[in-house]
Amino acid sequence: MKTILVTGGAGFVGSNLCSKLLDRGNKVICVDNFQTGRKQNINDLNGEFELLEHNIQTPFKTAENIDEIYNLASPASPPHYQKNPIDTLKTNVIGMINMLELAKDNNAKILQTSTSEVYGEPLEHPQKESYRGNVNPNGIRACYDEGKRCSETLCFDYYRYYGVEIKVTRLFNTYGPNMDPLDGRVVSNFITQALEGENLKIYGDGLQTRSFCYVDDTVDALIKTMNTNKDFTGPINIGNPAEFTINDLADLVIEKIDNNLNIEYCPLPSDDPTRRKPDISLAKKVLGWSPKIALSDGLDKTIDYFKKFI
Ligand code: NAD
Ligand code: UDP
Repeated sequence: MKTILVTGGAGFVGSNLCSKLLDRGNKVICVDNFQTGRKQNINDLNGEFELLEHNIQTPFKTAENIDEIYNLASPASPPHYQKNPIDTLKTNVIGMINMLELAKDNNAKILQTSTSEVYGEPLEHPQKESYRGNVNPNGIRACYDEGKRCSETLCFDYYRYYGVEIKVTRLFNTYGPNMDPLDGRVVSNFITQALEGENLKIYGDGLQTRSFCYVDDTVDALIKTMNTNKDFTGPINIGNPAEFTINDLADLVIEKIDNNLNIEYCPLPSDDPTRRKPDISLAKKVLGWSPKIALSDGLDKTIDYFKKFI
């Protein structure tokens, strides 16, 4: 049995990851400060599960030796990470240093969940890991984008300087059960609005694109990445290459929930990327992974989950 620490384990992706790691017979220590995470996401987890309520901006030690660290602690939805941008930067920079130090002290592997946001407003499409991105360092998304870029730098410097075993993953838009209906991301907003009989609010003209990956596929890829050989550091894209406009997504949600619903167009926030689609050739080659769940099927499962709360 491995002892695995998951920061951000009470959040959307983190709780799905904890569940899968427990199913596989591991001991899981979840570290979370509940900034955006929810107790209900972890209440029903079975197996050797421990919760440590803690902010990763402050260093901590564990009573027992840790084998692996998955670092997911960070708000991920734009309204949440922009609410206190300085705190977002601290979590992604100071928190990252603290988790790398913990990995070093425990001789543990560490996986960082970076993001497609490191590509900013991409001038290359689809985005390969070799693309260095086009991020506005002064804009409202920079606290997250630059925070995650710095977290990657820190991982690679700990790898080169101290020999810490790192795995840097870049997640593209992920959705599914355990998303907070009030989280503010497009999938949760559209489903919540549709179930409440409200207009679906599209920011901008809805022609911007995203590629949506169902959470089970994402979690599967995270675990496979952690289990790659010692020399594999990433960065590696994890996402579903099927690309949709936001208008397509709204139409799909309306079709699934109520054809009488309307769309309302609202102002587009600044620096909102116009297109995003992962090149997943590396994940196919190294992990033997590609996503299995199509958007339509994943939306059905997510809508079923949201119906329990709305
Ligand atoms: P989430 O907001 O649901 O979960 C984040 C979790 O981290 C929450 O439980 C929150 O309470 C916790 N947290 C935040 N700051 C913390 C701190 N300082 N100390 C301890 N805990 C803290 O977000 P998510 O969608 O589950 O994302 C998980 C990770 O994956 C994030 O790092 C995010 O940047 C990354 N990611 C997610 C997506 C996506 O589409 N979901 C895409 C790219 C990257
Ligand atoms: N978006 C939208 N309506 C919403 C929330 C988001 O039209 O209620 C748009 C947003 O402007 C962006 C896309 O949907 O173009 C994805 O937004 P999200 O916040 O989910 O993720 P990110 O922008 O970080 O990819």
